[in-house]
Amino acid sequence: MDIVFKCTSCDQELEVDSAGAGSEIPCPTCNTLLVIPEATPENLATANPVGSAAATRIEKHFAVPQHSAPESLIKKPKPTLQVAAKETDKKLRIKTIKHGDCVEVGKSKYDEIVTEFLQQIGEENIVQMHPISYSHTDAAGRTMYNDFGLMIIFRG
Ligand SMILES: [Zn+2]
Repeated sequence: MDIVFKCTSCDQELEVDSAGAGSEIPCPTCNTLLVIPEATPENLATANPVGSAAATRIEKHFAVPQHSAPESLIKKPKPTLQVAAKETDKKLRIKTIKHGDCVEVGKSKYDEIVTEFLQQIGEENIVQMHPISYSHTDAAGRTMYNDFGLMIIFRG
């Protein structure tokens, strides 16, 4: 079904498919942006054969109306939301760093290793941190040493 209506600016009679009702089209004569009216018994081309003969037939593909294209882009999920969803998927993990494991040839790299690890997981992913103390024996297994460390619960 075709709708016949007049341009509000130059009075050019236009005929368009009723599928385009509500869509915006530029007037082919004066370029004014016009909203295609809803079909009514009065404006249908079949009910007004005289009008349709004089009307300028506008062939337009309404499957993708011009004015709705930017809206459909906006409706796409925002990337930030996808990132947020992924973060909730992260598993709760635990990392224990023992001071004794960070000693290399008498020199402690403990602070350096803990700092590096914390930077790696990121502050926002740290759930809890607990200081720990433990005992271990020397290589000969004779002397007991008390040592310390850090247990980190994080999401990652
Ligand atoms: Zn016009």
